[in-house]
Amino acid sequence: MWKNIRIACLMVVLLIVAMNAWRDMNQDWSKPIIVLLHPINADGQAATQKYIQQLSIDDFEESQNYLQEATQKFRGQATSFNFQLGRELQKSPPKVPENNSALSNIWWSLKFRYYAWQQHKSEDGSPSVTLYLNYYDPQQIKQLKHSVALERGRIGTVNLFASEKQSEPNQVVLVHELLHTFGATDKYDFTTGQPIYPLGYANPEQKPLYPQDRAEIMGGYIPLTEAKSKTPDNLQYTMISHLTAQELGWIK
Ligand SMILES: [Zn+2]
Repeated sequence: MWKNIRIACLMVVLLIVAMNAWRDMNQDWSKPIIVLLHPINADGQAATQKYIQQLSIDDFEESQNYLQEATQKFRGQATSFNFQLGRELQKSPPKVPENNSALSNIWWSLKFRYYAWQQHKSEDGSPSVTLYLNYYDPQQIKQLKHSVALERGRIGTVNLFASEKQSEPNQVVLVHELLHTFGATDKYDFTTGQPIYPLGYANPEQKPLYPQDRAEIMGGYIPLTEAKSKTPDNLQYTMISHLTAQELGWIK
């Protein structure tokens, strides 16, 4: 009898896990998407704190509009993206492993999901996606480490500059990570940082091929030559490819 009860409990747990995974991987795009943003003072600087204090949800309007327009274009009907600025958190997400081994990535993703569970409060509601925005003072650090987002759990740790001037490039990073949480995959080479041809190019058919004038959002960068590329200044210098739209479930 106890054995049966134990098995029944285990089945229920497995069923819930499977249902959550299915939900995370099959977004219903006719429903509004709620994106909760938690700012974090990642370097403990006073300048960073000052920036976070003046942040408002209007600073993310461009990303919202960009996504609404993209869904309109691909689906023929705009999905409403509702960004919400959440509480500032005191604790940063676990550090992303430097080495790219499968085991350290699995361990990290478990730690990250545990962190998200720990930080969640009932007042946060149940957003579609939660992004942890780690802000750094650009006076202290010139280059940010890679941001990472998970489809299972719908969470992302996003490294951004605490500066009004960087607000537009920040949104490129934010949208890239947000699309990861809905299943879009990277389209750049991890070792060289170069967009992969042709998947990671905004205009792979262009002649001559270089320089490109826009980035595919999951390719991340604008290819200038075969070996050189640059970060888009704002979302207007990016586009979403057919393949990325397919991965997102916007088109068949
Ligand atoms: Zn990525």
